[in-house]
Amino acid sequence: MSDFETIPCPSCGAGNQAGMGFCGSCGAPLGVPSTPVPPTPPPPPSQVFSTPNPEANPEPAFSTYTPPAPTRAATIPSGPLTDSGQSVSTAMIIEIVAGFFGFLGIGWIYAGRTGQGIGLLLGWWALIAIGVIFAIVTFGFGGLCFCLAPVVPVLSGLWLKSTFSKS
Ligand SMILES: [Zn+2]
Repeated sequence: MSDFETIPCPSCGAGNQAGMGFCGSCGAPLGVPSTPVPPTPPPPPSQVFSTPNPEANPEPAFSTYTPPAPTRAATIPSGPLTDSGQSVSTAMIIEIVAGFFGFLGIGWIYAGRTGQGIGLLLGWWALIAIGVIFAIVTFGFGGLCFCLAPVVPVLSGLWLKSTFSKS
C-alpha cells in the first residue's frame, strides 16, 4: 500500500507527489491528471409552447431492452426454391443463358442438382459432337440440326423451373 502516488512530470518525467502543483525537479507546472469530463449539454428546456413531443421524453432505464424484431419471412424469396436454396427463376435464367454458350446444366448445378447438371453438360457436348460429325458426313446438310440447338437450353431451363416448382 503506497503512501502516495507519483505523477510523472509532463516536462521532464520525474515523479512527483500527487497534489503538488509544480515539478520538484524542473519546476514545470504539473497538470492535473486528465479526467476529461464528457461534454454533457444540459437538456433543452421543455418547450412549453409546443405540443407535447413524445420523443423528447427519456426512456425509462428498465425499458432499454428492445425485443427482437419480428421474423421477417418476406426476406425469403416468395417464389419456389431449389435444393440449394436459390431462386428457381435465377437458376432457370442461368441455365438458359449458360446453355446458349454451350454450357448446358449450369443452372442445375446452381440449383443443387450437381450430378444432373454435369450429365446435361456432358450429354450436350456429346450431342454437339455428334451433330458436327453428322453435318460433316451429310456434307453440311445435317448442320440444319443446329437450328434447334438454342431451343434445348430453354427447354432445360423450363424443365428446371417445373421440377422445383412442383417440390
Ligand atoms: Zn519536471
